[in-house]
Amino acid sequence: MYDLLIVGGGCAGSSAAITARQRNLKVLMLYAGDGALEKAARVDNYPGLPQTSGGDMVRLFRKQAQDMGAEVKRQLVQKVLPMGEGFSVLAGMDLYEARTILLALGTSRVNPLQGEEELLGQGVSYCATCDGMFYKGKHMIVVAGGQEAVEEANYLSEIGRVSYFTEKPHDKAGLSAAITQLSGKPKAIEQAGAGMRLVTDQGSLEADGVFVLRPAVAMTQLLPEVAVQKGAVVTDENLMTNLLGVFAAGDLIGAPLQAAKAVGDGNRAALAISSYLRRQAAQVEQE
Ligand SMILES: Cc1cc2nc3c(=O)[nH]c(=O)nc-3n(C[C@H](O)[C@H](O)[C@H](O)COP(=O)(O)OP(=O)(O)OC[C@H]3O[C@@H](n4cnc5c(N)ncnc54)[C@H](O)[C@@H]3O)c2cc1C
Repeated sequence: MYDLLIVGGGCAGSSAAITARQRNLKVLMLYAGDGALEKAARVDNYPGLPQTSGGDMVRLFRKQAQDMGAEVKRQLVQKVLPMGEGFSVLAGMDLYEARTILLALGTSRVNPLQGEEELLGQGVSYCATCDGMFYKGKHMIVVAGGQEAVEEANYLSEIGRVSYFTEKPHDKAGLSAAITQLSGKPKAIEQAGAGMRLVTDQGSLEADGVFVLRPAVAMTQLLPEVAVQKGAVVTDENLMTNLLGVFAAGDLIGAPLQAAKAVGDGNRAALAISSYLRRQAAQVEQE
């Protein structure tokens, strides 16, 4: 059981991990890949690191968090589930438990395919680990948006037959030879009798189910109970969301979308989380 699980390993997440470790919390930070700052060729307004590339900055932040004792893993988080006093977090093939959650996902946006959201849970899934077994011995289409999809598609190919479509170009090294790779840009998902049909710019293919495996997850899927207003997660003055024990920081909670502000948010959130955990522990002792 971690004291704190951080979703996102950019400026806000790394900063929170560093301060949380200073407060001696057991920390796991999961990040899916590059965040916003990795896209910046050069950053000039961050104190102490003049004329540094965004990629180098984030690598330094993450290394500092790791050197201070935070566990850092590259894994896409698919689902955060409130469970009694804490949370279960599903990432790839792994399930983690934590007392608190910090959402530090940045502003990565998901553009769903036509029909995708309407058919979610009715033949469309975002999670191979959660839903794969429903398709044992059946034909599954994977719509893959990044190299994280490779491991999950391989897992599905052990359960049934997999046809693999690439939504965005990515490294497919390691993709099982049992998987059929098809060309065509995915456009829409439709119901086809008891199964599903994926429509691409080159035709269509029918299967029993469609797994959409992207390197980003919409908040409505990750943790639908979290309040969002005008595209930003709503927090109180301690950066806690409307859900007890779930905090948020960085670009995800709104402007200014700047590295220094995200780092400051991460620091504030970690301190608030440390106080929150102390209060929780004191309450348990009293009971
Ligand atoms: C091109 C560009 C140039 C910029 N230049 C500057 C500049 O010069 N100065 C400046 O101050 N700011 C600049 N910014 C803004 C700055 O990059 C952001 O404000 C900052 O990165 C926000 O930090 P963050 O931690 O909130 O989000 P991010 O840095 O975007 O990090 C988000 C993290 O969340 C992870 N993630 C997302 N979804 C999941 C999931 N489901 N599971 C696990 N992990 C997930 C990502 O992998 C990433 O690690 C620039 C931004 C861009 C795009």
